[in-house]
Amino acid sequence: MSSLASHENQLLLETVRHFVTQELLPHEAQVDRDGEVPLELGRQIEARSKALGLFAANLPEAVGGGGLDYEGMRIIERQFGRTSHALHAWVARPTEILLACEGSQIERYLKPCVSGAKRELFALTEPEAGSDIMAMKSQARRDGADWILNGAKHFISGPVMPDFAIVFAATGIDETKRGPRRRITAFLVDVGAKGFEIACGSRCASYRGYHTFRLHFSDVRIGPGQILGEEGKGLDLAGKWLGMGRIWVGATCCGKAERLFEMAAEWAATRKQFGQAIGKFQGTGFKLADMAMHLRAADLLVEDAVRRANAGVISDADAAMVKLYCSEMLNRVADDTVQIFGGMGLMEELPIHRLWRDSRLERIWDGTSEIQRHIISRAILRPLGA
Ligand SMILES: Cc1cc2nc3c(=O)[nH]c(=O)nc-3n(C[C@H](O)[C@H](O)[C@H](O)COP(=O)(O)OP(=O)(O)OC[C@H]3O[C@@H](n4cnc5c(N)ncnc54)[C@H](O)[C@@H]3O)c2cc1C
Repeated sequence: MSSLASHENQLLLETVRHFVTQELLPHEAQVDRDGEVPLELGRQIEARSKALGLFAANLPEAVGGGGLDYEGMRIIERQFGRTSHALHAWVARPTEILLACEGSQIERYLKPCVSGAKRELFALTEPEAGSDIMAMKSQARRDGADWILNGAKHFISGPVMPDFAIVFAATGIDETKRGPRRRITAFLVDVGAKGFEIACGSRCASYRGYHTFRLHFSDVRIGPGQILGEEGKGLDLAGKWLGMGRIWVGATCCGKAERLFEMAAEWAATRKQFGQAIGKFQGTGFKLADMAMHLRAADLLVEDAVRRANAGVISDADAAMVKLYCSEMLNRVADDTVQIFGGMGLMEELPIHRLWRDSRLERIWDGTSEIQRHIISRAILRPLGA
């Protein structure tokens, strides 16, 4: 438990840890094998998380959410990280950018997501525009008061077939100090709208049972009330959300690394070769020492980011450092855990092969490690005029 602990946070930690251990972990192996969370199980997780006050915990009480502060969010995300995203994604944490909903959008999109009546997708990535989101080809043109949307998205993920997507599309070009730049607007697009096709994407090696979708838009007519936030300000909205999202990725990585570390330490202390516990061989003992040290450092980075966010001084580079360090740390811990277990580390009886596969995605989504390094180096060099 962190130095930021309070009695309430201790209770929150115990509640979420118990929920994960008792109600999510037992389903992991089956979900990974089948590549599917049965609908009944997903609904059960939703219902239980509502009863425990964990559902939509990230959104303010004023809109019906749990109203957790950043420290509370750190605690729950760290515990959820111990298990598969396929399972804990059923405990919705609707994207905060929905708080930009106005007028009828509040009843139509925000509140149903908070209650669980609707699920959203966050649709930014395209087949030819991954890290380079400004290269996106999706575009919307005006047609009277309406907009006509064309384009495609892929790798857009969620636990269940969604009700609508927050779709980012170019709506023009802005002249900026750094040259012409696409204006990106966020649109709320209902599944079922004419011209909007949605299909399941490829199976992913990580988090089996958590789906990706391919979206295709062919002359989809969108009313003026379907813009989320302001026209041309889509990336500002997305940016605000992505920053905190990266800190929660860091917290989940710490939770998963802790679970792996606990198993590795236990195995190293009990597995004997050459007449002694393998942990006593320096090659294994030093691995454990490094794991413990890097996990501690990662946790401290997340806690520091929470303090900075509370003080309103968190930067993109701060969030990038958290995401980069924690996801890279997790992958080293996962790989070393497999190594410490030897052949058993890859056998289906144990969860290690799953956690190892799941860990790999953390270095890719929400911005790859290289993109995080790019954000950090830009923050160093820009003030120096480079
Ligand atoms: C399971 C899964 C779920 C996802 N969910 C969503 C979602 O819900 N919504 C959404 O919008 N997106 C989602 N994504 C997309 C994810 O954010 C992208 O995969 C990620 O941003 C990387 O884009 P890319 O895969 O196209 O890789 P690319 O951008 O093609 O990158 C390939 C390689 O090139 C490197 N590279 C690219 N540019 C640079 C550079 N400037 N400097 C150095 N190296 C560079 C990258 O780091 C990477 O190593 C999801 C992806 C996966 C796999």
